[in-house]
Amino acid sequence: MRSSHYYDGFNNANVRSMTVDELKNVSFQNTTPITFNVFIHDLNNQTLNECDYLHGIKYLNEQFNQFHFYFKYIGHDHDSDTNNSIPNVLNVYLINNSGGQAIGPDNIRIGQICFDEDSPFIHTSTIAHEFGHIFGINHTFLGTGSNQGNLNTSITNPCYHIPQDWAYFPNFSSNSENVTRDPSDPNYNADSKGDFIADTPATQRIPNVCPDSNTSYIFVYIPEVVDQVGEPYVDPFNIVTKNFMSYVPFRNQFTIGQGVRMRQIVPNNPYIQPYLSDIKELYKPYDHRIGTPNSNTTPIISAVEAPDKPGYVDVKRPTNEYCVFQPGYTYRIFTINSGNYTTGDVVNPNDATLRDTHYPDNSSCPVRVSGIVFGVQIPEISGDIIMYDYRDTNSTASPYTITREPVITTDIHTTNTPGAPNGVDTTLNQQQSADPNLINNLENHKYHTIKKTTETGVQIQKTIYKQ
Ligand SMILES: [Zn+2]
Repeated sequence: MRSSHYYDGFNNANVRSMTVDELKNVSFQNTTPITFNVFIHDLNNQTLNECDYLHGIKYLNEQFNQFHFYFKYIGHDHDSDTNNSIPNVLNVYLINNSGGQAIGPDNIRIGQICFDEDSPFIHTSTIAHEFGHIFGINHTFLGTGSNQGNLNTSITNPCYHIPQDWAYFPNFSSNSENVTRDPSDPNYNADSKGDFIADTPATQRIPNVCPDSNTSYIFVYIPEVVDQVGEPYVDPFNIVTKNFMSYVPFRNQFTIGQGVRMRQIVPNNPYIQPYLSDIKELYKPYDHRIGTPNSNTTPIISAVEAPDKPGYVDVKRPTNEYCVFQPGYTYRIFTINSGNYTTGDVVNPNDATLRDTHYPDNSSCPVRVSGIVFGVQIPEISGDIIMYDYRDTNSTASPYTITREPVITTDIHTTNTPGAPNGVDTTLNQQQSADPNLINNLENHKYHTIKKTTETGVQIQKTIYKQ
């Protein structure tokens, strides 16, 4: 299977699972948020961009937010080695295959393809699988291998509707989990064997499953395939086949018991504690940029021919300031005209001095907010507004930025007298526009109106009389 490696550093039989019935009553609604910063090291440096990394983080949030685990993208690099981890941050290394490896919180290796939005689901689920390991949950089949063997009585395969005379049989160890979920049964060991989690059914490394469609697998019940006390494996709700911690394709679920276990382990384990961050991190833009105006929308202060480079125009635009948030949440962005807020304050959302704008997220790319953001509310998480002040009072950044843009078209209108109704029109391409002898080659004793258009549509125009 693609997820070929597991990390079991947190497995601790002393942390006992609740029973299946107890787990059904668990709610995570009022639990403390658990937050991590995540940094992406892209070892491939070729095909992915920030949108892909953000998609992976968004996917992680979609799977883990139900347990009040939150992930904040803080940046990426294009690294060539796997030992440049940033301290106190979950470091994800994108490797050049489709598998995953959870070595530790500072070294989570995920196949690059998993971050590609169009990949089959198995790839993307690898992200959730490996992070599950980091937070202390293990494979659903832990402690039980599988061997292929013949059946005494053939079954009818429910997917192909044909007789099947073979199956995978469990290969037991001292850590194998029994089928019973009745805590009063002397064979009950679901809380201390296998994955130590009661609401993931006992299973083996390769469960007997078949493809129900091209997006799901179903469990195949075979009476002869039994646990070590003779009870047949069951999974009537296909919990194992859908579970992130199985090796079955098309995984898309954690169980309540897995969430409980991750929340038991993560806040209390000294190994993971240094990696916890504050929930306020999630409210901060992951990037705040000054001086990079958008060439297509920012107003132009001036545009002149580049003095030292024919065929180019120097375009001056006011610097832009904007904040960039990761996708996956609805942001309510607040600005204030006046007030005494201090960075990091949590304020009452009814405060009248706040002005707000909604930025609902409906894309997999960054949520960009122009201007200065003072406060952020994420309604999905809480009613709190976290106040920040991104005004950079010490900034020495120039109030404008000059970009040098190539001229792609030069239109020349030639007449005998200025503004005469008849004339000759000539259009030059980009290469011709860059000719240093352009003016010299124009016809003498004529008026020439020269209009240059750059790649972003900026136009400059002048009229000359050629002696
Ligand atoms: Zn694994």
